[in-house]
Amino acid sequence: MNHKFTKELTVADKSDLRLTELVHQVVTAIESDKQSYGEFETHPSVKIDQSRVSEVLKELTDRLENNFPYFHPSYAAQMLKSPHPVAIAAYLATMMINPNNHSIDASPATTQMEREVLRQMAAMFEYPEEFLGHLTWSGTTANLEALWIARELQPSKKIAHSADAHYTHSRMSEVLGTTNVSIATEADGRMSLDALEKELKTGEIGTIVATMGTTGLGAVDPLADIINLARTYNARVHVDTAYGGFFKLIAANHLDPETARHFAALKDADSIVVDPHKHGLQPYGSGAVFFKDISIGKFYKHDSPYTYFISDDLHFGEIQLECSRAGASAAAIWATLQIFPLTEQGLGSVLIPTRNAAKNWYDLLIDSEVLQPYQKPELDILTYLPRVNSMAKLDEISHELLVQLGNGPRQQQMHIATYVVKPNQLAQRGFVFEEDAKTARILRSVLMKPEHETWVPKLHERIESLAAELLG
Ligand SMILES: *Cc1c(COP(=O)(O)O)cnc(C)c1O
Repeated sequence: MNHKFTKELTVADKSDLRLTELVHQVVTAIESDKQSYGEFETHPSVKIDQSRVSEVLKELTDRLENNFPYFHPSYAAQMLKSPHPVAIAAYLATMMINPNNHSIDASPATTQMEREVLRQMAAMFEYPEEFLGHLTWSGTTANLEALWIARELQPSKKIAHSADAHYTHSRMSEVLGTTNVSIATEADGRMSLDALEKELKTGEIGTIVATMGTTGLGAVDPLADIINLARTYNARVHVDTAYGGFFKLIAANHLDPETARHFAALKDADSIVVDPHKHGLQPYGSGAVFFKDISIGKFYKHDSPYTYFISDDLHFGEIQLECSRAGASAAAIWATLQIFPLTEQGLGSVLIPTRNAAKNWYDLLIDSEVLQPYQKPELDILTYLPRVNSMAKLDEISHELLVQLGNGPRQQQMHIATYVVKPNQLAQRGFVFEEDAKTARILRSVLMKPEHETWVPKLHERIESLAAELLG
């Protein structure tokens, strides 16, 4: 196996794939498509000497060396990885034309591709064939739209989400002028049903936000039970699967039965958000929102005197808050899903090894004398900590591990993240620590690359031996 940060590794998830050739294929095809409209003279103002551009691009690629190796399995820190070459080639090809999926006039081909990928994603969630949805720039925009619809439907009611929900929910509640309520989590990081029911009993909650795969711990809220409670108390349910949504593909056969039961309840949610730029092999600029009740489309109603002409079909601009939106994003997902369809054997085959990586590392941590798991991983996010007995020491060693692992020659670097915890969260999970600090950092690894499956023993061994050294 090649351990170097080589160019091949940055671009190829499949060893026989050459990005350079894919790029050459699409650039040639799109240039010839453009030429079919007839030659015209490029204006001198945008004509630049090729060698000057080449210099700038050289400077660019040099400057881009100032990054962490997000593409490499030695990077086991935050939610970052390179897009698949098929997504890169498709995005580049489409960007050369630069269609805008706001209106059909501006994007006949990619609006159609967006419809196709939305149907595929809705089918993954077992949503009905009639739904309202669209791609977005991000999970943030997608969640904002879902919360906005929640507010429009129930203007005087509150929005409840778990204490571990993404901060975007409380922030967007502020933007929308709604009140949000934070619900306590259990020792497994999932929303507490008792705490939720207590809030529902006040009659003030209009919408519950459930998270499938919290950003910090990868915990999956008990959606099936949340939906039952919501029915009893007449609340709506919005599901934030920005991170975890694609795990639906492998839930039945590869996640714990209890987690799988909650993924199976996605079909009953009122709205769902998923980020193809997290686990869908896409570059940034790729979120999606789905609504089960198509009548909410009325809230988006607006008149545009200058955009919609060629078709009476629905233009995405009529059912989204954003205006311009990259047709290239839709094309990139479309092409990717042709190669990795939304099945267990398709994109699921990329997710199964990430899940195995987390499970296997968890087993190694249980047996370790210097490290221990913080909690059992439900997806592919693992949290762990050195075996110490004071909060201050915990914080110090965790930070030192992060720094020292990331230093040194590139081929020896390992990159992990930290996660801040409070004494009550440690106590909840049965850890007894001297409370000589108000918070402490523990360690966190997002194992979202399939290569992590074979890399885990290496990561574990290295972190364990360094931790042993630091603990003396
Ligand atoms: C990443 C994430 C978000 C925010 O999405 P962006 O695409 O980063 O804007 C929201 N919720 C969850 C659970 C996430 O993981």
